[in-house]
Amino acid sequence: MSVIFGKSTRGQPTVIYHGFEYIKDRDNVNGTVAWRCQFYKSMKCKTRLVTLDDRVISEKQLEHTHSGNKSKSMARKAVGEMKSAMSDMTVTPSSSQANVSVGLEDRVLQALPKRRTLSRSLQRYRSKVVQADNRGNPLPALPSDLHFDIPNQFADMILYDSGPGDDRIIIIGCNQLLDGLARADVWLADGTFKVVPSVFFQLYSIHFNFSDGLNPAAIYCLLPCKTENTYNRALAEIHRLIPSAAPV
Ligand SMILES: [Zn+2]
Repeated sequence: MSVIFGKSTRGQPTVIYHGFEYIKDRDNVNGTVAWRCQFYKSMKCKTRLVTLDDRVISEKQLEHTHSGNKSKSMARKAVGEMKSAMSDMTVTPSSSQANVSVGLEDRVLQALPKRRTLSRSLQRYRSKVVQADNRGNPLPALPSDLHFDIPNQFADMILYDSGPGDDRIIIIGCNQLLDGLARADVWLADGTFKVVPSVFFQLYSIHFNFSDGLNPAAIYCLLPCKTENTYNRALAEIHRLIPSAAPV
């Protein structure tokens, strides 16, 4: 009987075998992998497995000190997958639940925690990932108006900031991509309202043709409104950043 590989809710590799879940103990030098029952601590369960590829090649202590439940084991594996998906910042708790749940049998779905509980724990997981990426610092609170100060940690990516005020324009990017934009013959502009922080009106991005089909964004402009004056101010700043540019 082969095993099912997964990840525990804490991100450790697991296998599910005969309804019991095992946590990876170590890779052996001969290429096999040693696992121990997930309840080795809490239930003092001494059951161990050794696998080679997706097969169990040895089992130690066949009696578990607790009962197994394949649906619950599979549900835990599913939660592990949902958490992995949350490392992608565009994924929401509901989309990660929906994507993983699609492939699950009913009895596994029933063994999942309640939707709201799950959403909360996925959100908590996301905050931890973000915090870890940010050298252990939580992200600053979202601004509630256009009078906020830009935290030092983001100063490097700010190419232009017209300063606190209701007509604030912020241009974000990096010098390397500006360089690419300056050399490009073709610029492409794109505006979106969908992912814009609520204090701004529009995110305007300028892309350039890098190679066939590859059009990286070089500049992001956060704009407070869509008046001609606003666009002109933004374009004037872009021109100041790349004086040599002569795009079509
Ligand atoms: Zn056990």
